[in-house]
Amino acid sequence: MENKLVTTAIDYVNGAPHLGHALEKIYADVYARHLRKNNNVYFLTGTDENSLKNVRSAEKEGVPVKDHVGENSLKFKQMKEALNLSYNDFIRTTENRHVLGAQKLWKACEKDIYKKTYKGLYCVGCEEYYKEEDLIDGCCPIHKVKLEEVEEENYFFKLSNYQNELLELIEKDKIKIIPETRKNEVLSFIKSGLQDFCISRSNERAKGWGIDVPQDNTQKMWVWFDALSNYISALGYAEESEDFNKFWTNGDIAHIIGKDIIRFHAIYWPAMLLSAELKLPQKIITHGFITVDNQKMSKSIGNVIDPFELTKKYGTDPVRYFLLSEFKTTGDGDFSYEKFENKYNAELSSGLGNLVSRTLTLIEKKNLIGQKINLSEEFKKEIEEYIFKCDKHLDNFEFNEAINVIWNLERFLDKYIEETKPWEINETEELIKLFSKLIYAIRKIGEMLYPFMPETSKKILSILGNEEKKFNSINKETLFPRLK
Ligand SMILES: [Zn+2]
Repeated sequence: MENKLVTTAIDYVNGAPHLGHALEKIYADVYARHLRKNNNVYFLTGTDENSLKNVRSAEKEGVPVKDHVGENSLKFKQMKEALNLSYNDFIRTTENRHVLGAQKLWKACEKDIYKKTYKGLYCVGCEEYYKEEDLIDGCCPIHKVKLEEVEEENYFFKLSNYQNELLELIEKDKIKIIPETRKNEVLSFIKSGLQDFCISRSNERAKGWGIDVPQDNTQKMWVWFDALSNYISALGYAEESEDFNKFWTNGDIAHIIGKDIIRFHAIYWPAMLLSAELKLPQKIITHGFITVDNQKMSKSIGNVIDPFELTKKYGTDPVRYFLLSEFKTTGDGDFSYEKFENKYNAELSSGLGNLVSRTLTLIEKKNLIGQKINLSEEFKKEIEEYIFKCDKHLDNFEFNEAINVIWNLERFLDKYIEETKPWEINETEELIKLFSKLIYAIRKIGEMLYPFMPETSKKILSILGNEEKKFNSINKETLFPRLK
């Protein structure tokens, strides 16, 4: 068994989670559940609480920052139940273990840190400086707001020291970036020349919120320097804990993030780790964004989808299923209630749900309960093919394609029933052979569904009974009641 670390990005807590946040956590959960079949997995998520964004939104609501981030962080944490996430750890960057870890990392990078006076244009929404030429009409290209001019003496990190090393690591897939298009984006950014970046801000500008720079309490760490270190601080980097040793130093690390923060993860973060002489992550996997009715979710449009309400209405597994099967994992996707309900009815209710109930009803009608299963090795091998393909797609972070393999098997079984017409057969041996195949294949579908729809997987296996030697009496539970 290998040790695998799976992480999500940690979210800003200036608001409650929406469907986009849920999407990333579900992706990471699928990956973690898949890896757990053969590995020791540490699945980490959490919240990023030290940003200026959080300070501003607390000010707007007229509450102390600490209360504001605490309240919202809790909502992120509660996604665990609503989405059935299997994470092992949830880190808040206001926790002591994180503060100690971030400060230790800073000190470990000291040879690459220097102070200089800097004048730049800062976007609080992005928590990033912009160059004049990257602005659109003098505004942030993402947030479309005028930037704040900042002039301060700050600490800088000598990113330029790592240009060649990073280029080689990424070109040779030592740090593998998925998908390829993002890898190329990162490579061309590195080739354009890496500039040192600012890693602190004055206490005054930070409004006293954030992590102190070691040995200089007039400055707070830039939020990205602090946030990125969560991946090691959570594991106990500060005290060199056993988990840190096991899952970081001797582990296989996969960061799962949105495509918009690839630069921080594929350039800044590895450079910081190289500077501190720490192990690098092996994989950086990026996913796309989700729109609602083909529009970006926004409070002003009023199309923000609350994952708690959605799962309450339709159930956790159907929501997971939609997000995992509707679009390419590394691409963008769109949600609409209409699409959701159509897909649910066609694929879950009429598809899988109907296959299971139809098969069980026929077994009962044909008086097969208690009869011994009779299955050929050849058929088992045929099913192995599906399992193999599904696993391969899971390894490659192609969840929609993995689900497609399961649905190919589901459709194959539907067709098999249509063609063999078991309701017209009276020969018991023939019926036993036919239904042995169906029960076996449906059980495998149940197992294959586990990373995607864990509860449905459990339900299917329990409906079929764990005994594989004979036909069991039937628990006729409707898996997916039709939506009107
Ligand atoms: Zn911005």
